[in-house]
Amino acid sequence: MVPLEKCLAVAEECEAPMVSICGGEPLIYPKIEELVNGILAQDRIVYICTNAMFMRKKMRDYLAAIYSPALEPKIKKLLNGKLISDKDAGTIRKSDEAALKKSVIAPTKWMYWNVHMDGLEFTHDLIVEREGVFKECVEAIKMAKILGYQVATNTTVYKETQVKEIEEMFEFFSSLEVDGHTISPGYEYDAAKKDMVKRLGKQPEDFFLTRKMTREKFAKIQEWGARFTIFGTPVYQEFLAGKRELTCTAWAIPTYNVKGWKAPCYLMTDGHYAGYQEMLTKVQWDKYGVVNGVARDPRCENCMVHCGYDPSGALGTNYQRGDNWKNFKYNFSAKPKPFPSSPELAKRAFNGVSIGKGHLAEAKAAINSGLAGAKSAFARGGNDITEAAAAKGNGNGAQHAGTFCGNGDTSERDELKAKIDDARKTATKAE
Ligand code: SF4
Repeated sequence: MVPLEKCLAVAEECEAPMVSICGGEPLIYPKIEELVNGILAQDRIVYICTNAMFMRKKMRDYLAAIYSPALEPKIKKLLNGKLISDKDAGTIRKSDEAALKKSVIAPTKWMYWNVHMDGLEFTHDLIVEREGVFKECVEAIKMAKILGYQVATNTTVYKETQVKEIEEMFEFFSSLEVDGHTISPGYEYDAAKKDMVKRLGKQPEDFFLTRKMTREKFAKIQEWGARFTIFGTPVYQEFLAGKRELTCTAWAIPTYNVKGWKAPCYLMTDGHYAGYQEMLTKVQWDKYGVVNGVARDPRCENCMVHCGYDPSGALGTNYQRGDNWKNFKYNFSAKPKPFPSSPELAKRAFNGVSIGKGHLAEAKAAINSGLAGAKSAFARGGNDITEAAAAKGNGNGAQHAGTFCGNGDTSERDELKAKIDDARKTATKAE
């Protein structure tokens, strides 16, 4: 674990205007409150990239630390919305000495909860391998908005991701009045798959989200930007939509982890450096990225991720006339209005375990009928689901209920992506 003082020192060292605290899951970092408040005290914007499992607990801590009778209308609203229990309300009202002393994460316009959302209920629960996670995310977002926090959603688009579902997801979360959406294509590199493409003479698109496919999936991103608040420079959005090329500037969104400054980027690791300046000077940056359609490094070939290319749009590395105006307009013009909420929208969003169509349904049914050890609907590739794990509603362990932040290992995600396809086929057959 990186000590608190070191975390604060590295934020200062690279003079980041904005710090994204990711993980695994940042809310299990023991001094997360002190870290958030320390970075805010340095006058930096903070994004907490979270799976939302502990968000409501952190917000209850905040309420207990600031409790006064003036808070009662909000507490009533939270109780009416079933976002806190009567017991929680009692603890908040008690507001004992320990609660008052506790460092808490308070709402501020400089901080965002950045909630990991990879689809509507069925897809999201499947990706994190735990039923009920989507519902918890929605409840945490509703509670955060009542309390005045800023909230963004954070979505990775995979080869299997359906464009229609992304749009429906934006509509639903916009109707909950979230403040914006971060979205990026997933990183697609796997040496074993690359080898298979070569040996089997297959097409890269059979295995990877290629640049061409990314551009197809993001073809409507500017249209989305007119309807929803998409976080990301307009120039990066044009790049994703295939309207222009950009050069990778991974050094502008650097990653620090337990081993130091990670180079060249958040996704690939060719080395770690003790100092940010040291990394800047020692890494041969012109070995990376794609220039005029030619990959300088084969691992960069299909990469269009935001940590490599979003800063390019802000820094003007491939400047075109009018870019400054686009950036100005994006930053200072009015944001799109929230999508109108409706019961139909919510019904469409809760399309998984809430309506008895959770991805673990088949496994649970098998267990209930005495067929313990049967494979789940999505585990036909050989992942036997254990009885205990299935009963917990968690096919592969709670550690997967995260954002895959912090390393470039795609093996777990690749398995999950295959499962999405399997599960969709099963769900379609069942209908
Ligand atoms: S192109 Fe992508 S994988 Fe390559 S260095 Fe840039 S961010 Fe990293």
